[in-house]
Amino acid sequence: MTGKIPTSRDPVCGMDIAIADSRYSMTHRGLVFHFCCGQCLERFTRHPALYTRAQRTADIRPIAKKHKLQFVAPDAEALRGAGDRLLAMMGVTVARAADDHLLVEYDLWQASLEQIEAVAEASGLRLKGGLHGWRRAWWRFAEGNELDNMADTGSGACCNRPPARLR
Ligand SMILES: [Zn+2]
Repeated sequence: MTGKIPTSRDPVCGMDIAIADSRYSMTHRGLVFHFCCGQCLERFTRHPALYTRAQRTADIRPIAKKHKLQFVAPDAEALRGAGDRLLAMMGVTVARAADDHLLVEYDLWQASLEQIEAVAEASGLRLKGGLHGWRRAWWRFAEGNELDNMADTGSGACCNRPPARLR
């Protein structure tokens, strides 16, 4: 007789996590959530309201992002290594090395530019500053806004705020 292993769905990527083996979890408003990896836990920690909305399901459309990341004097080996590490991240679908840059495509539900930059730098690459640094800061800012706005749409016409009475 085989018992069903109790699982919990990772609210970020939709994977089923065996609760007994869970290494990443957190309590939010009295409920315990389990995650497949530190990256998903971090996404959740930043925007819990977004990932706990009733509409959130695993088959939700991805928020596709595409950026070209430039580096200071990267060698080809380091670029390829970083590309491999990025592809191992949740939500990253493309990480292609070319000349002095990486072309990355990812789903903002599961990965943020900030997380991608951290993995690239942990691989020994140094991100370009200057105009590119400014652009990256803007992209990060816009991503944060986009997610905040998505979280808000769930609470527009809301039952905890009674409608204004007309008379
Ligand atoms: Zn996950």
